[in-house]
Amino acid sequence: MRVRARVEGTVQGVGFRPYVYRLASELGCSGHVLNDARGVVVEVEADTKSVERFLARLPAEAPPLARIERVAAESVPVTGETGFAIRASPPGGEPSAAVTADTATCAECLEELFDPADRRHRYPFVNCTNCGPRFTIVRGVPYDRPLTTMAGFTMCPACAAEYENPLDRRFHAQPNACPECGPRARLVGSDAEDAVAAAASVLRDGAILAVKGVGGYHLACRADDEAAVAALRARKHREDKPFALMAPTVVAARALVALGPAEEDLLVSGARPIVLAPRRPDAPVAAAVAPGAPELGVMLPYSPLHHLLLADVGAPLVLTSGNVSDEPIAYTDDDALERLAPIADGFLVHDRPIQTRTDDSVVRVVDERPLVLRRSRGYVPDSIGLPVTARRHVLACGAELKSTFCVAKGARAWVGHHIGDLQNYETLRSFVAGVAHFEALFAVKPEVVAHDLHPEYLSTKVALERDGVDLVGVQHHHAHLAACLAEHGETGQALGAIYDGTGYGTDGTVWGGELLRGDLCGFERVGSLFAVRMPGGEAAIRQPWRMACAWTQAAGVEAPAALAARPGWDEVSALARTGVASPLTSSVGRLFDAVAALCGLRSEITYEGQAAIELEAACDAAERGAYAFGPALDARPTVAAVVDDIARGTDAGVIAARFHNALAAATARALLERGPDTVVLSGGVFANRRLLSRTRALLGEAGVRVLVPERLPPGDGGISYGQAAVAAASA
Ligand SMILES: [Zn+2]
Ligand SMILES: [Zn+2]
Repeated sequence: MRVRARVEGTVQGVGFRPYVYRLASELGCSGHVLNDARGVVVEVEADTKSVERFLARLPAEAPPLARIERVAAESVPVTGETGFAIRASPPGGEPSAAVTADTATCAECLEELFDPADRRHRYPFVNCTNCGPRFTIVRGVPYDRPLTTMAGFTMCPACAAEYENPLDRRFHAQPNACPECGPRARLVGSDAEDAVAAAASVLRDGAILAVKGVGGYHLACRADDEAAVAALRARKHREDKPFALMAPTVVAARALVALGPAEEDLLVSGARPIVLAPRRPDAPVAAAVAPGAPELGVMLPYSPLHHLLLADVGAPLVLTSGNVSDEPIAYTDDDALERLAPIADGFLVHDRPIQTRTDDSVVRVVDERPLVLRRSRGYVPDSIGLPVTARRHVLACGAELKSTFCVAKGARAWVGHHIGDLQNYETLRSFVAGVAHFEALFAVKPEVVAHDLHPEYLSTKVALERDGVDLVGVQHHHAHLAACLAEHGETGQALGAIYDGTGYGTDGTVWGGELLRGDLCGFERVGSLFAVRMPGGEAAIRQPWRMACAWTQAAGVEAPAALAARPGWDEVSALARTGVASPLTSSVGRLFDAVAALCGLRSEITYEGQAAIELEAACDAAERGAYAFGPALDARPTVAAVVDDIARGTDAGVIAARFHNALAAATARALLERGPDTVVLSGGVFANRRLLSRTRALLGEAGVRVLVPERLPPGDGGISYGQAAVAAASA
């Protein structure tokens, strides 16, 4: 018999055709396989038993990077074809969607890397069809070597033979390279033959090195070297925000943080994100790595260069973005050499250009499930399905902080890499270039452009400047709700608790503690946190003590004397009273700020969300008590109770825990009162493990179906996808 099978999903550029060739050959099937615009088409001919075996094994034994979404097989007339062939794609048939995410070095390449007898022994750029750089080196489509940053390297005969051989692991591996013909690493200013070994020796001695990686430059130093870490912090002008670590092995990672099975799965996954996990009390890291933080961000080596470096140093490294303060991470050599020179004692570089700046992704595990906080290297540009079909091509411009964009067509969306805070020329430039790149990669020509309602966001301005498109303004918290619904394939109604720092409301006030009933097409605001003034507007975001002032005033209680005595208190108090330059806000993020300031934990912040993060970190894990919340999410009694506890001398950890417990209980109650079947918990505040876990548990006990973002961030990194879902459903 003869069967034609069409395979859809991520099946191109992942070694699928050679896999089919090997499988068919093993089972004695004749026929052919080819790529076309929709995926892979395979025809096999043999006795019925062999064909059935082939079809059973085809999806089950697919290569590691393949993701099969559908196999449709049909019988076709026997042709008597002999042998099995990998055929060329039909003209125009090479798809635009064959670009996959960068993937960690596979086990086979690792073996070669550390095998003294292998021709790629200690070669920092070893890769194959199953691993290596992809998205970060792609310049255009089709995904073929001339359109990658490997274009300048001509394969030597040995590499070319691998590339041409369907039975080789490196068949059509576009970044294929070896020490003879491929990129080289170099320690600037040194003529060491083995640049990585030389860099490792400098690091061991306490230097700070700029290291060119896969998606950009990192700054590296020994994690256990007090002086080096403190110097890095000072030179980078980074006051408090924790540094990420790279551990040589899972065993070394276990010595740094407490890892459950879900955390370990993420650590060793092909995406290799930074995993946030509770730090061990005896973790061998310098105090300045993460001052006061109960968690550490840890990742494992994901490129051969990192594997060599970590193995040579033999200890965890700080590996933080190569930038000064909040600037975007450096990824071009000239820019890095200029910007990082004041910070780094040396540079470990290489000559494979990085096409797209891509930060490390960040994931936290809550209730044994991943919660992506930053989705970038390792995940982008994998597509995410939409539960509705976009009749026209869509561009969604996202929000402002932790910005991403999204393009969509049909039932598929591609969310771009983390751009950062869209507040300066450099990030705006990355944003615009990123959008153009994605439009080309995925052949999307936007006819509908979705944007936030905030008129001052640069992302909104970019949207409004596009000519000849239909614009769809999507309310910020509706986008959060829609993103979570769409990710879970839900097209029906749900009730969402959407808590974050700031979002432009339909009434012109600052929203951020919203109960929304809605679906992908629309929403109704059915409740919100009691609104208070944000004294001085934006200044209140940087200075949580201002929110303490506003909330104590609203609650009609005296603020703790230490706070009320600070300079400027009376002026800010007057702003809160009169409302001058002080918009109303229902933001839960700002309520966290107020409580953190009242507890004396944090009155001014140096990075977004710091006060809330520290309030969560302070929680006394054993405390089960909870403050009262007024009906309709009125936090005034809660703030009054916090102030009472402070006056009584209650420990800040107990207060923090009682506050979290109160908010979780009030949220669950408010949602249950409205009697929903399906609930969404999203918004940046739900990155808070304690709040999310308790709220989910309370709702779960009541038998409610709870949806939480998993593949996309609950924070503003998920907004663009939500906007795209709304645009797809309504335009
Ligand atoms: Zn490999
Ligand atoms: Zn070669």
